[in-house]
Amino acid sequence: MQRLFRYIKSFSLWDLLKGLRLTGRFLYGRKTTIQYPEEKTPVSPRFRGIHALRRYANGEERCIACKLCEAVCPALAITIEAEPRDDGSRRTTRYDIDLFKCVYCGLCEEACPVDAIVLTRHQDYHMEARGENILTKNKLLAIGEHYETEIAADRQADKDYR
Ligand code: SF4
Ligand code: SF4
Repeated sequence: MQRLFRYIKSFSLWDLLKGLRLTGRFLYGRKTTIQYPEEKTPVSPRFRGIHALRRYANGEERCIACKLCEAVCPALAITIEAEPRDDGSRRTTRYDIDLFKCVYCGLCEEACPVDAIVLTRHQDYHMEARGENILTKNKLLAIGEHYETEIAADRQADKDYR
């Protein structure tokens, strides 16, 4: 009897119909998928994406080359070299972040006393050539300039939250 029942089920495509019933149930329901990259899901202002170095409104670099971020980085991803300028202020001559080493812990931005190094909310970036995993000072400053308005708003939201 059981065998007959199995035959009837397989000839009537019972399992296929069961699957189609499930598909039909979700066909007109609320969509949970999005068309990335045209559409994006909301990202928290505290998201730890690609890094940026910031400037003050007058264009001066915020970073004072204290090397706290380099010291605190658990992945040894940051390399800083610094020397004094003619006016006596101390600034970096080299500021590299190796994205292959970085674990996006955010300790560098936590340690920075002047809000110079930050992790932006941007997570979609890629490399096409060897060596592009190193974010140099110029690249970091360029990212900071590009996203400054958003970074400032995110930092303010973070302060309000705390
Ligand atoms: S996010 Fe963490 S691992 Fe990456 S550079 Fe900053 S301190 Fe280092
Ligand atoms: S980014 Fe901040 S913590 Fe790192 S060297 Fe510059 S001022 Fe110091």
